[in-house]
Amino acid sequence: MNERDAKFAEIGRALREHSKFAVLSHVRPDGDALGSTLALALSLKELGKEVRAWNEEGMLEKYNFLARAELLTQPPSAPEDFDVAIALDTAVQNRLGTTATAAVGSAKLWINIDHHPSNPRYGDLVYIDPTAPATGQILFEFLTNQNFPVTPAIAENLYAAISTDTGSFQYPNTTVRTFEIAGELVRCGVDVGRISQLLYENFPRRRIELLRELLGTMRFACDGKLAWFSLSQAAALALGVLPEDNEGLIDHLRATRGVIVAIFFEELPDGKVRVSMRSKNEAVDVCAICAQFGGGGHVLAAGARLRGTLPDVEKRIVEQACAAIERNT
Ligand code: 5GP
Ligand code: MN
Repeated sequence: MNERDAKFAEIGRALREHSKFAVLSHVRPDGDALGSTLALALSLKELGKEVRAWNEEGMLEKYNFLARAELLTQPPSAPEDFDVAIALDTAVQNRLGTTATAAVGSAKLWINIDHHPSNPRYGDLVYIDPTAPATGQILFEFLTNQNFPVTPAIAENLYAAISTDTGSFQYPNTTVRTFEIAGELVRCGVDVGRISQLLYENFPRRRIELLRELLGTMRFACDGKLAWFSLSQAAALALGVLPEDNEGLIDHLRATRGVIVAIFFEELPDGKVRVSMRSKNEAVDVCAICAQFGGGGHVLAAGARLRGTLPDVEKRIVEQACAAIERNT
């Protein structure tokens, strides 16, 4: 048995042997976090287990169409005790959020399943595959390997997780295996046209208005290799923007010819600025740039939160990003 299958067997055994589970994922969840949480929670429920599926922010409105979305809720204020707590897609334990972490009063076992290379392997049973483009892909491999149920509802959630984290099967970590899994999920009943429209062609109008605002602040530097735009608190309030509206907007910058690094600056209400960074070239590691400021992520997609005003943070980050581009290209 190879190392992966041995670890899957160990995790599979732990899930079969216990009866009460909390399935958790990171704050500011994306499609991979929410889809993976629902998929694993549903599979455990099929096995007759008692399961809570929690996220600090609850189910986002834009992912409310996911099969059995109502199962995923905000954590309660009174803590509950569990046999097993499972962290999915969460690179650092504190990104589970304070409320979700506190809601797990106790757990005999913590399981950590993720694809972030920076994951420090917290927990008792850990499976990290940094080559996987999505936690949803790891879960598909795990569930099928361990003969856990994959119902049409589970398939839809895994498909949404993988589709969103691969940028619709476009990022370079999308492999033959990813397409094979997508094929399997379609065979399980996923309606590709329907789910793609719900994922990518059903945004609220304020999101395109937000894009108009962002494009008004767009700047280029470093011979057009660096592009960025920014959202102030004032503009966010005026437009009624929700955090979930941001997901994917940075792709417009990355999609521009010549751009290697794209950055999205977002002023937060707490005096910090959220920095979101994307690279088109493996030689320019945006995780390394963000790590200089206490952040992390992947080589081609990373982020950080810095204290400071918007112009101050922009200046510091743009300087380091330019330096990294010049050193490595
Ligand atoms: P996004 O830009 O979509 O918010 O995040 C891109 C990647 O960077 C994600 O994989 C996420 O885990 C990571 N990331 C984003 N913000 C932070 C942060 O503040 N700290 C760390 N360690 N990673 C982050
Ligand atoms: Mn992910």
